[in-house]
Amino acid sequence: MLKRLLRQLPGKIMLLYGICFFIWGCSSSKPVETSSNDRPKNVILMIGDGMGLSQISAAMFSNNNRLNLEQMPVLGFHKSYSYDDLVTDSAAGATAFACGIKTFNGAIGVDKDTLPLKTILEEAEENGMATGLIATSTIVHATPAAFIAHVVSREQYEEIAVDMLKTPIDLLIGGGKKYFDRRENDNRNLYTEFQQKGYKVSDYSQEEMTEMQWDPSSNFLYLTADKHPLNVAAGRDYLPYATKKGLEFLEKRSKDKGFFIMIEGSQIDWACHANDGKLAIKEALDFDRAIGEALNFARERGNTLVIVTADHECGGMALNPGSKMNKIETAFTTINHTATIIPVFAYGPMSKQFSGIFENTSINTKMRNALGFPEHKPQTTNGSTNDRK
Ligand code: MG
Ligand code: ZN
Repeated sequence: MLKRLLRQLPGKIMLLYGICFFIWGCSSSKPVETSSNDRPKNVILMIGDGMGLSQISAAMFSNNNRLNLEQMPVLGFHKSYSYDDLVTDSAAGATAFACGIKTFNGAIGVDKDTLPLKTILEEAEENGMATGLIATSTIVHATPAAFIAHVVSREQYEEIAVDMLKTPIDLLIGGGKKYFDRRENDNRNLYTEFQQKGYKVSDYSQEEMTEMQWDPSSNFLYLTADKHPLNVAAGRDYLPYATKKGLEFLEKRSKDKGFFIMIEGSQIDWACHANDGKLAIKEALDFDRAIGEALNFARERGNTLVIVTADHECGGMALNPGSKMNKIETAFTTINHTATIIPVFAYGPMSKQFSGIFENTSINTKMRNALGFPEHKPQTTNGSTNDRK
């Protein structure tokens, strides 16, 4: 009996080995190594303006307990405070991501001494990468502006539009047509100026986004509204589509150098300023559909780092007692932003850097590290460094 068992043992061990190899083979044939240490070719930064944990939770529990965001395996938190206020605004918040410094509220791409600092998007352009900005606000609004403009006040919309001419950004999609073709402070027509620089320029009044040609032979500016685009409940629906088409467009534009793009769900914040929980949920779900498109792109390529975060929370939003799955009772403590720490989600090559708790400025450092850009310390007027305050 014992002898027979011993004789059968090698066969059983072989069978066990076989099963192990089969399981290993299956698991290793996954299409994407989601957190490899190889450098990514492309970086997609997605900002849900005003999207804290409650906005994410409310959207998830209003959508049968599901978000595309859940596919992102690496999680961290950032500290969103600005140079002069524990409660940041979107200008200082986006400047922290774009330039790697804490600046004063209202500042666009300048440091606390109002000196302009190179943004990660400008640096990507200098390195031959394709670049893009997509927003559901005007394209000159604080969040997209901080990646390409350098002004002391976020209200300088016309100056911000002019700054966009100074960097040969490949793709710009957002509202704000009036800041380009019917300016109040000068008679410049930026439509013509962009065209003279070789851009294809179009807008909502000329063609529907779903019907237009995304011709990768030239840079592209498309304005989605005269001022702000509609909110999602009123019919705006372009963000997921623009994300999908925009990423394909940039991939074609980028050739072998890769691309950097910032995509913003701009109006989660505005719904929370209005303390409108239902609208905040709809805006967050629209942004999550765009996240789904970015993750599809990244999963198919395997060479793209996707980061999703917010600049700050807005409204001090809560999911109150009495909430049920798909019927959330939201409540708010303020009509302003709050200082709560903000979740960061990452997927793709070098995503592991985004775990832990860190300053919002570190998101800039980690993205630049992923792209292989040299370490830098932004200089202030007195020559001291202004990093990681
Ligand atoms: Mg914004
Ligand atoms: Zn806000």
